[in-house]
Amino acid sequence: MSSTRPRVAVIGLGSVGSMAAWRLAARGADVVGYEQFGTGHDRGAHGGESRVFRTTYFEDPEYVPLLRHAGALWRRLEAETRTELLALTGLLMLGGASSTQMANVSASIDRFGVDATVVPLDEARSRWPHHPFRDDDFVVLDREAGYLRPELAVLHAARRAEALGARLRTYTPVDAIDVRETGVWVDSGGDSERYDHVVVTTGPWAGNLLPGLAALIDVRRPVSAWFLARDRAPFDPATFPCFLRTTPTEWYGLPALDGSGLKLGLSGEVNTPVADPDALDRTIPVEEVQAFRALVAEYFPDLYPDPVRVTGYMEGYTPDGHGIVGQLPGEDRVTVVTGLSGHGFKLAPALGDIAADHALTGATDSSIALLDPNRFLDPSGFLGARTAAVGS
Ligand SMILES: Cc1cc2nc3c(=O)[nH]c(=O)nc-3n(C[C@H](O)[C@H](O)[C@H](O)COP(=O)(O)OP(=O)(O)OC[C@H]3O[C@@H](n4cnc5c(N)ncnc54)[C@H](O)[C@@H]3O)c2cc1C
Repeated sequence: MSSTRPRVAVIGLGSVGSMAAWRLAARGADVVGYEQFGTGHDRGAHGGESRVFRTTYFEDPEYVPLLRHAGALWRRLEAETRTELLALTGLLMLGGASSTQMANVSASIDRFGVDATVVPLDEARSRWPHHPFRDDDFVVLDREAGYLRPELAVLHAARRAEALGARLRTYTPVDAIDVRETGVWVDSGGDSERYDHVVVTTGPWAGNLLPGLAALIDVRRPVSAWFLARDRAPFDPATFPCFLRTTPTEWYGLPALDGSGLKLGLSGEVNTPVADPDALDRTIPVEEVQAFRALVAEYFPDLYPDPVRVTGYMEGYTPDGHGIVGQLPGEDRVTVVTGLSGHGFKLAPALGDIAADHALTGATDSSIALLDPNRFLDPSGFLGARTAAVGS
């Protein structure tokens, strides 16, 4: 092994960390990955069998180049691991015609040529009779959209990283990061190792290692609920595109995979805050189950209204709903990717690649101003009190 290879640690081998380890190893770095659990576990942000991929982006059309970057890397990971991870079944974007979200969807099409079209409501109702349309809906069919298999993707990205030479230490929680003149030291289980660069991808746990982030990231417990159909065929992936509704509240659905039920999720602040990510309570109160039952009763007469499975996961949300991606303000040997605010899985391979850009070259050519950590710059920096204590 050449001593000139940059030595990079990736802390947290979940959605983004597994991809960062893969991209760094593919680009020649000497990579060590740390994960507190196993790869593909279901205790963080990436559990629950499926994630939506879409390219008309209601959050901001500026994401489209990043989504295309991610799409190409999803295909590359599939080819390198001979595993199907992304199925482009299409997605229906549903919302008010004059809403900002639907304006962003239209801008994604106009500015970037996303393969998507407006579908008149009558036509939509006859083409997809099992979808939850409202009389005031503006409907867009995004064909550069579908679903991803998150656990499989994380597992295979990690395995691919190992095949390319990365050393992954599972069941190895990192206790601290010490930034010194001689390098960045990663402490775990009484050991301390030096790296040229550290990539922190600890998701909802980001505030533990980077205390300056704790106040910025609102950790919540989004719930997924699965519903069985009286007749399953209309909810199969071949017939039922994913959907994302923005009015009157934001919620989404994915087709029934692997013989399971239709999966529904509610977005944003309806999800319960999590005070301590190490003590996630996964018992979902009846009131939260009732919120799903009410949606099914109103929109899906062909589903049984009681969910057969209800599970809580975790996610970190930033104040503006965009992630934090880049070198830490004031510490260019530490790159962070976190706070992905409920829509980061589809971006994970691109964000892993961008983390590799930062670790290996100190910059990225990708246009990610929306995600710049400096927009939240605090004079104490994200490393918070710990930096001051350990700098030597
Ligand atoms: C229910 C739900 C539905 C969602 N739906 C979608 C969707 O449809 N489409 C979409 O694009 N996005 C979706 N998202 C968002 C997306 O899943 C997240 O943005 C993404 O998974 C976040 O990835 P991450 O790498 O930041 O966190 P994680 O995937 O949680 O990875 C963090 C990892 O760090 C590890 N770790 C933490 N601390 C330490 C430590 N000290 N030492 C070692 N390891 C550590 C954790 O164990 C974990 O493996 C959804 C999120 C949820 C919760």
